[in-house]
Amino acid sequence: MNFYVMTLFPEMIEQGSRSSILGRAAKNGILSLKAVNIRDYTEDKHGKVDDYPYGGGAGMLMQAQPVYDCFLAVRDKIELDRGKDAGSKTKVIYLTPQGKTFHQEMAQEFAKEEDIIFLCGHYEGVDERVLEEIVTDYVSIGDYVLTGGELGALVMIDAIARLVPGVLNNEVSADIETFHNDLLEYPQYSRPERWHGKEVPPVLLSGAHKKIEKWRLEQSEIRTEKMRPDLYEKYRRRKNMAEKLVRENKALYADMSESLYRGRGILVYDGEDGAIILDKEAEVYMLAAFCEDAAEKIVGLIPEKSDVSQFILHQEVFLPPMERRYRLKEKMECRRAVYNQDVPAPMSKRTDVVLLDISYLEEIAAHYHLGSREYIKERLLQGCIFGAFIEGRLAGFSGEHIEGSLGMLEVFPEYRRQGVAQDLEAFMINFHLSKGYLPYGDIIVGNEASLGLQRKLGLKISKETFYWANIEK
Ligand code: SAM
Repeated sequence: MNFYVMTLFPEMIEQGSRSSILGRAAKNGILSLKAVNIRDYTEDKHGKVDDYPYGGGAGMLMQAQPVYDCFLAVRDKIELDRGKDAGSKTKVIYLTPQGKTFHQEMAQEFAKEEDIIFLCGHYEGVDERVLEEIVTDYVSIGDYVLTGGELGALVMIDAIARLVPGVLNNEVSADIETFHNDLLEYPQYSRPERWHGKEVPPVLLSGAHKKIEKWRLEQSEIRTEKMRPDLYEKYRRRKNMAEKLVRENKALYADMSESLYRGRGILVYDGEDGAIILDKEAEVYMLAAFCEDAAEKIVGLIPEKSDVSQFILHQEVFLPPMERRYRLKEKMECRRAVYNQDVPAPMSKRTDVVLLDISYLEEIAAHYHLGSREYIKERLLQGCIFGAFIEGRLAGFSGEHIEGSLGMLEVFPEYRRQGVAQDLEAFMINFHLSKGYLPYGDIIVGNEASLGLQRKLGLKISKETFYWANIEK
């Protein structure tokens, strides 16, 4: 990921980029941070970049010309590196106290970009006309006024960068901490065991992983309820619905309950008669009706204004009201497979399964036909596709779909019937177990080979079927 910061004070940004984690990620080529001096682009022979505001008023304003030319230079560089399309799609964030307040979900959204340009204002701000032409997002870091946007840009870069796969050593740590699931993080302790007469809670020294997880969750809940009742209320509603879905039908609703547990699902509707969850990472609406006659009402509750075109309909009764409201482009009937056990799935020692990087894009695109090249690229960049190697050669791959299910399994013809698929699937199951997830996958009705493999690995298959549906936008 590449960050470009347009600023009058590049040294402030350069200082920040040397910090331990960002510095290491830059060294490893995972991200780059470049400060671009707006002053280098002024046409004024004295290097001036600001002037008085028309109509009077306090202070000076940054002029349009140097900001615009600086932006063009950055965009040209992005186009040179990554093609014309990349330049026009790049987000340009103007740091301003008038923008939307920055928060963790925004950081998660921005972490999906390949390039981001920040514009730091100074003095009284920037000429409105250039903002109108180049800015895609107006972001504030809080309700107070700073002297310039540089500290704001660094705050955002720090929060975004640590969500980029590979930046943190321990990938899990970004998943489980404060704000990920509307819960504040539990208290933590390090050596010594006793300090100022205070002992480390004994459960943390017990080595019992499950007990430790349970204690941490309880502590997070207590702390959130006390310190952030607003967050706690959001958490409680999500947790109640996730538990209800598990009670109703664990296999059928695994996608919905996991979307909530993994902190990605927004509860659009949570009633006694059904639920709507918007998985914001995958941009999929997931619909459940707990009684037949709720379907019509639930479809009517989907917000009118929405860019989302993918749906998971957990009951057939959703099809008629969906067809009345939208034009359904395609629908795919599936069954759900869930791994209900907490012991790892067994793997042979023949294959090495490792994370694949973007250099495998062509090879994967040549073998996987259920998703576009763009989709595969996005999955690779998110660190979600793993390859099985036999004697150093790629024999097949498997991955995590954007909404969190396991799938994308392909074994190259010359390696079939040698247990590679089983190893890949077992690896993915164990990977999800290690994150505390319920591993699950969606199997298209009629794919008997996949059903056989799931059963062999001990997955439970739902009796009920459900539909993936796409609507015309
Ligand atoms: N006159 C501007 C206004 O009232 O909106 C404030 C200008 S401020 C003194 C100078 C620059 O600092 C802004 O252009 C912006 O880039 C940055 N800045 C100030 N407060 C900020 C905040 N809370 N979040 C992000 N950037 C901020």
